[in-house]
Amino acid sequence: RPSVVFENVEFGYEKDRTILKGLSFEVPAGQNFAVVGPSGAGKSTLARLLFRFYDPWSGRILIDGQDIAQVTQESLRAAIGIVPQDSVLFNETIGYNIAYGRSDATQADVEAAARGAALMPLIERLPQRFETEVGERGLKLSGGEKQRVAIARTLVKNPPILLLDEATSALDTRTEQDILATLHRVSEDRTSISIAHRLSTIADSDRILVLQDGCLAESGTHLELLRHD
Ligand code: ADP
Ligand code: ADP
Repeated sequence: RPSVVFENVEFGYEKDRTILKGLSFEVPAGQNFAVVGPSGAGKSTLARLLFRFYDPWSGRILIDGQDIAQVTQESLRAAIGIVPQDSVLFNETIGYNIAYGRSDATQADVEAAARGAALMPLIERLPQRFETEVGERGLKLSGGEKQRVAIARTLVKNPPILLLDEATSALDTRTEQDILATLHRVSEDRTSISIAHRLSTIADSDRILVLQDGCLAESGTHLELLRHD
């Protein structure tokens, strides 16, 4: 359960346009933080830097006190599980999709791992379970079902840090609430960062960071932030 620290992080995609303008924050080990802010504020950019798709111009990003620039890509990938907004599934069974990255795993292994990682709440309501083929020739999953599989696929590897990048934003409110409630149950003792654009979806977070124009505009609990509005 490592902590995540951004220390004066500056970054832009183009030389003359800074996107993150000296961003600093700390997510203590085991806490569930959310990052909200208007479109274009730099939320996804923050996620890309944490995953080292890009390196900051200046400043540092630390996981468990260690600069991620000094960490191998392999161990960084093992440390962070990411769930994007539009997860793409293989046209294979649900079991295969969840076991992705552990291609030697049998269905039984996957099911055992899912139980071990307490993922059954995510999976048990899928139409039929692991043996079902999804995609063009198989079962058509709804957006919510697809995201459940994608989240399970990430969590089954038991990443110490979970990064949700608008993972439920494309879903209708009911489906979103439903998945978030399950997620809350399975990620309570993990360090997690959820990127969202609606404050209402992240009320369960320990703390919310409001990003505006590449800077931390404010932060607080859901209640504290509501009082400001
Ligand atoms: P958010 O996730 O908060 O909507 P982003 O991090 O996606 O914001 O984007 C922040 C800014 O960076 C936006 O102005 C966007 O246009 C710009 N941006 C994002 N990705 C790229 C890219 N690959 N190349 C150039 N500019 C980008
Ligand atoms: P549309 O753009 O009309 O939604 P899609 O091809 O994106 O059509 O999806 C059709 C249905 O198939 C959707 O319900 C979607 O969830 C599902 N689907 C699409 N691609 C996959 C995939 N690779 N694996 C599983 N389900 C998929």
